[in-house]
Amino acid sequence: MDFSVVISLGYVVASGLFIFGLKMLGSPATARKGNMISAVGMLIAIVVALLDQGIVEFQWILGGMVVGGAIGAIAARAVAMTSMPEMVALFNGLGGAASLLVGWAALAPDATTFTLVTIVLSILIGGITLTGSLIAYGKLSEKLASGAITFTGQQIVNTLIIAGVVGSAVMFCIEPANTSWLYAVIGLSLVFGIMVVIPIGGADMPVVISLLNSYSGLAACAAGFAIDNNVLIVAGSLVGASGIILTQIMCKAMNRSLSNVLFSGFASVSNEVTEIDGEIKPINAEDAYYILEAATNVAIIPGYGMAVAQAQHVVKELADLLEANGAEVNFGIHPVAGRMPGHMNVLLAEADVPYDQLLEMDEINPRMESVDVAIVIGANDVVNPAAREIESSPIYGMPVINVADARTVFVLKRSMASGFAGIENPLFYKENTRMIFGDAKETLSKLVRELAG
Ligand code: NDP
Repeated sequence: MDFSVVISLGYVVASGLFIFGLKMLGSPATARKGNMISAVGMLIAIVVALLDQGIVEFQWILGGMVVGGAIGAIAARAVAMTSMPEMVALFNGLGGAASLLVGWAALAPDATTFTLVTIVLSILIGGITLTGSLIAYGKLSEKLASGAITFTGQQIVNTLIIAGVVGSAVMFCIEPANTSWLYAVIGLSLVFGIMVVIPIGGADMPVVISLLNSYSGLAACAAGFAIDNNVLIVAGSLVGASGIILTQIMCKAMNRSLSNVLFSGFASVSNEVTEIDGEIKPINAEDAYYILEAATNVAIIPGYGMAVAQAQHVVKELADLLEANGAEVNFGIHPVAGRMPGHMNVLLAEADVPYDQLLEMDEINPRMESVDVAIVIGANDVVNPAAREIESSPIYGMPVINVADARTVFVLKRSMASGFAGIENPLFYKENTRMIFGDAKETLSKLVRELAG
């Protein structure tokens, strides 16, 4: 068989595995296997590229595979589960950087106009992805303030950058020999990445994360065209398309349009102080136990604090004990709970919580009135009734889990601090809410001890 046919077949198999893997990621039950299948696809893609001597000498690919694989393996092992969202943001950024470099390296004196266009696209989208992801990393890791960063004249500066980058890109395609245009595209796209993400703050970050994920795919796809590599085109398109779908899901979860997220920013309203009626009613775990023991229907609503406290295993223990005590237990999962899409599902799967106990927001909300106790574990923004009740709230209109409809609400958190969006939560002051202050894992361990005893 012709060697080039073997190469093409290898690419087809790798692409097929990516597609199957991606499909399996759609359900928590098959997600792990899907991840493995996609990883095997990637290995095949690398090996085939290794054999495809036409692209680059194999020592470079081998070297890249060993160094990249080692960094990836060490990072995945060393990074704490709570820092996973930041790591994903960094990986997206590095994907953008790789496409930028591949596009740049593909520049040859005899490049056709089509190749020049794909080069400029991979550099442009790759550059935006790189710096945008670095800002997202800073916001997620709280090295940068999570709120919107705005200044007067921002729109004008952005318009000038867009005009500059488009103009330079066009000029580069017309005069590829003049490298100043190329450098202008690189520089302006890097600046634009920063400008796109800084005005987006607080609760809108999930949309940005998934959008950057999509950009990294589109940049790779453009780079694939630039170097004429089919598997890069396929893999890039898959990431680009799935990222766009995820972006839509996130927008829907926040009840906001993409243009609204990208261009309006929360800054204009987020500093408004609202008077909240009611008072805080703290109770301790021992008293909470008496209420829980009598409950026949319990809903557990996890949020980012469960990840911080690493409380997923003890939550599962609590759920098991409550079930053994005759209660029906369900978990209410908000699509943007935590700091990355699917964050809560990943944690609860790690603790072997059965998938059929995980109810999405739309499923759990209609049942909330029949719930005896809703236990909010380190969730804040995703259970904030201000989204329904306070029109001036920055999150007004965002669908939330309506825990206040339950008979009693326990909120497990360490203090009265706000969540990622940086806004007050009237839930804590409701008549039927009891605050159980402390680290979620410690509080849950106490409840487990009481119940087990
Ligand atoms: P929040 O960030 O709103 O709130 C988390 C709460 O957990 C805090 O109020 C904190 O309060 C509490 N907490 C922290 N550590 C502990 C601990 N050890 N024990 C107990 N409680 C703890 O989380 P949500 O999940 O409700 O909302 C997610 C937010 O993040 C949304 O605004 C969302 O838009 C945003 N976001 C989501 C992304 C995604 O893809 N899912 C991506 C980027 C942002 P205290 O300090 O008092 O303990």
